[in-house]
Amino acid sequence: MQLAKPLAPGAMIGILGGGQLGRMLALAAAQLGFKCHIYAPETASPAFQVSAAHTIGAYTDFAALGRFAKAVDVVTYEFENVPAETAAFFEGRVPLNPNVAALRTAQDRFDEKTFIAGLGIPVAPFAAVAGEASLEAAIERIGRPAILKTRRFGYDGKGQTKIAADTSAAAAWAEIGKAPAILEGYVNFDTEISVIAARGLDGAIAIYDVPENRHQNHILHTSTVPAAIASGIAEEARAIGSRIIAALDYVGVMGIEMFAGANGLVVNEIAPRVHNSGHWTMDACQVSQFEQHIRAICGWPLGGTYRHSDVVMINLLGGDAETWKDLAADPAAIIHLYGKLEARRGRKMGHVNRLTPRQS
Ligand code: AMP
Repeated sequence: MQLAKPLAPGAMIGILGGGQLGRMLALAAAQLGFKCHIYAPETASPAFQVSAAHTIGAYTDFAALGRFAKAVDVVTYEFENVPAETAAFFEGRVPLNPNVAALRTAQDRFDEKTFIAGLGIPVAPFAAVAGEASLEAAIERIGRPAILKTRRFGYDGKGQTKIAADTSAAAAWAEIGKAPAILEGYVNFDTEISVIAARGLDGAIAIYDVPENRHQNHILHTSTVPAAIASGIAEEARAIGSRIIAALDYVGVMGIEMFAGANGLVVNEIAPRVHNSGHWTMDACQVSQFEQHIRAICGWPLGGTYRHSDVVMINLLGGDAETWKDLAADPAAIIHLYGKLEARRGRKMGHVNRLTPRQS
């Protein structure tokens, strides 16, 4: 079921998930005159604070999901671990963008890599791992070093472990909790980049400039645009993003993480949602990734992705957000805080965008 015509301002957008991505989607939706209804299990979800309505419910509470479906004009999701059965529940009830197949593909690292490799796009060598013996066989085939990752529910480096020269298969298998996994060859890269791609209901595609991403403790710390890579590589990355988003018949914004190095580009993973490495678009572009996603899922034409400034996005993690007074006194810092009550270590509390005049 898809929208028959673009949603008019005043319509209600349903968002599954109430974190900072849902919050920033709701703020962008409000700017276009839409209202948002957030559905999330957590009682103090940051997106609730800025939305017209919310439901606190489990993703498996189909009675509550049924009421939610009746109350909204379109449904989207802000994180990829919404159960696929929950997303599928909306089929035939209310339009869901992005589609369930894209969600399913992105939820399982093995399916995801199989799909991307099937498009002829480079990924690290990979093999499915179901137990200690199959891990040993996979290490034999792929070699060391390698990375063992759980197929599902991994994020920010969780659910993965490096297989070094002396790591035993038993230890690595125990380390990731003996869950179905994928073994990936270790990619020697110079730079981590991402592509923030958008596709409209009419099939139009818009791709932002390519950020270079640096991590600390496996968590994104900064995104810098433009990335310090050759323009030909950036163009190739954007072309890969275009092919992936079109192949999934995707409607909305997607983040595609890649490694760039001497051997060219290797796709690491796709996120079927707005992406942390696209937060700089809020201040450096004509239309942010959040507005772009809202436009796409509501059947509007995509907005301009033109970047008017160079920019560095810095995540505020855990206690970093306590520097808000200093940041507020710094006229060059554009501050975004997520309204989270508790600043646990490594938790994404906000981000700052710093703009400088565009150089190229
Ligand atoms: P992921 O959870 O797949 O995003 O991985 C987290 C981080 O681990 C990435 O941002 C990379 O820095 C690193 N990483 C993941 N996969 C590989 C790989 N195959 N080779 C080298 N580094 C990797």
